[in-house]
This record gives sequence, structure tokens and C-alpha cells, in this order.
Amino acid sequence: MDLAVTLRYPHETPPLRGTTLEVAPGIHWVRMPLPFALDHINLWLLEDGDGITLIDSGLGSQLTHDIWGEVLAAWLPQRPVKRIVVTHFHPDHIGLAARLAEEHRAPIWMTLGEFVAAHAMWQQLPGFDIETMARHFAAHGLSAAVCDALRNYGNRYRKGAPALPRTFRRLFDGSRLDIGGRGWRVICGHGHSPEHASLYCEELGVLISGDMVLPRISTNVGVHAVAPDDDGLAEFLDSLAVLSHLPGDTLVLPSHGLPFHGLQPRIAALGAHHDDRCAELLAAMDAPKTAAELLPVLFSRPLDTFQTMFAMGEAIAHLNHVLHRNQVRKVEASDGIIRFVRQTEKE
Ligand SMILES: [Zn+2]
Repeated sequence: MDLAVTLRYPHETPPLRGTTLEVAPGIHWVRMPLPFALDHINLWLLEDGDGITLIDSGLGSQLTHDIWGEVLAAWLPQRPVKRIVVTHFHPDHIGLAARLAEEHRAPIWMTLGEFVAAHAMWQQLPGFDIETMARHFAAHGLSAAVCDALRNYGNRYRKGAPALPRTFRRLFDGSRLDIGGRGWRVICGHGHSPEHASLYCEELGVLISGDMVLPRISTNVGVHAVAPDDDGLAEFLDSLAVLSHLPGDTLVLPSHGLPFHGLQPRIAALGAHHDDRCAELLAAMDAPKTAAELLPVLFSRPLDTFQTMFAMGEAIAHLNHVLHRNQVRKVEASDGIIRFVRQTEKE
């Protein structure tokens, strides 16, 4: 299926810097720049009685802080920030949350999985550290030169999230939040991050999808070094299956791209996209291959070191997925390098 399925975008352009755009009653869209190839993130400001609730914070940079100052000038001090909900631990979502929480004396609400993952990566705890990641990728055939380049990158997580909250209010799958007199249900998802929280308001027919469903790009799905045999792609697809049960006219508010209608066709397209990637990998695996050798099958463009890190995670996620489906088997040679080969009918 073509990824460019027909989605409906009610707003053709995002709000300008420092301004908001109301996309549903009491729900205001905030756009922040990001210094990456993915050059923006969407954040949401929700009217919440005598105050406001923020969904995600943006990257932990002075620029993000400055722009929040411009945005909040229209609300403060009459409508103070009452709480900050964080969908997941990636720096573009949580990066500024601790600073905003401190300045506005507002609690942070998030899931335990994301809170712990954030601190584990920040502190470089065993399994979440760069060395474990470099060894994980080396075992999947990534060259020593690229692995060393990853090691030399240092802790990029801390750059994007210079401070983290020390306490939080815990969200669970199925938690109900009252925001401005309306109920919002937490729907946890996996495969992109450990315990990603999307928020759904039945009354408004609005899903704040975070990074779980994006209109144009496919969400990065990975296998983390701490749990190297996980089937991250199955976790992600199972999570999408849960979201696909929401009503067809749901307005989806994604963290990247434009708000859209068309949740089910988008989820179907994403499923087809990953099926295609698996099929392309299988076709290339008549002889044992490493994840690193298979990168060009999934990514035709040249990758820098940073992109290689995500690409390896994505490749291993797809390989683990076809392994869990018994479509390939693992070949562990005496060199310690993991290779995969397509299962034949005879085996
Ligand atoms: Zn993310």
C-alpha cells in the first residue's frame, strides 16, 4: 500500500513561533523548532479550569524556553500552568519539563516506564549506557569505527534533557485524567519507547498520539540494547491495533507533522509499510547477513553516525520480528557476530 494514503488535514499550516492555534475546543497547538533533520515538534496547551495543562515540553534548550515565554505570556498569570504531562522520555518531549515544572510549581505526570528510562539513560545505568549500545551494535555487525564514533558522541541524551524531574505523578494504561472538565484516557503504547502515553478524549473525539502515530513519517521502532531479543516491532504493531479501535472520525494530534483525520487508514498504511520492510529483508537473506549488512535494504540514503544509531535499532527490530515469526534463524558464528538467514521450507 502507498504510504501517502488520503488523510484529511484540517489545518494546512502550523501556528507561528510563540503563538497558538486552537484545534479543538480548549486545545491549543504549539509548534517548537528542533535542530535536527526532523525540524519541529508539536506540543499542546489544554485549558484546564482556572489554569492550563501542557502536553510535552520540547527540547531542553534556551530557545525552547524563550518560545514558551512568548506562548505563555498570553495566559499568565491569570491561567497558571497546573500540570505538565509527558508522553515519553525522548528529549524533544521531556527536555524542558523539569525546568518548566520548577518555574511554574507544576507537577509532571508520566508513566513509570518513561520516568525510569529517562533517568537510566541520563545516568548511563547498566544496559542503558552507550557502551552497552555500542557492543549491541557491534554484535550485529556494525564496524568498529562507527561503534567508536558512537562512543565518542558522549551522552547526547543529557544535551537534549539537561535536567529531569525527581518526582512525578504516575500514569497507568487506562488512567483517566480530568482536564478542564473533560475526561482523557491514557492509552499506553510500546515499541517506540518503553511505556509511551497517548491521551484520548471521547467527548471531543481527539487523540493526542505523541510519537505513536504520525501522518507522514513512520515512527522509529527500535530494540534497546538492554533487552536485545525483544520483538519491538510486534510491540509497536500491537499498540497500533489498540489505537485502531478508536472512532473513525477521531482528530489525531501527532507530535510531528499536521493534525489529521484518518487514523485507521494511517495505521493500515504503517502495517503495510513494516510488512514491506520485512519482505525486503527476507528477500535479501538467502545467505547469513548481519543487521549492519542489511541497512542498505532498509535505508537507501547515506546515514551519518547519529542516523546509523536509529537505523540499526530499526533493522534489529525488523530482524527480531521475522525471527519471532520463524521466518529466519539466527546464526551465531565463532566471531560472536549475529547473522540471520531465511528459513527454507525443508528446515
Ligand atoms: Zn519519541
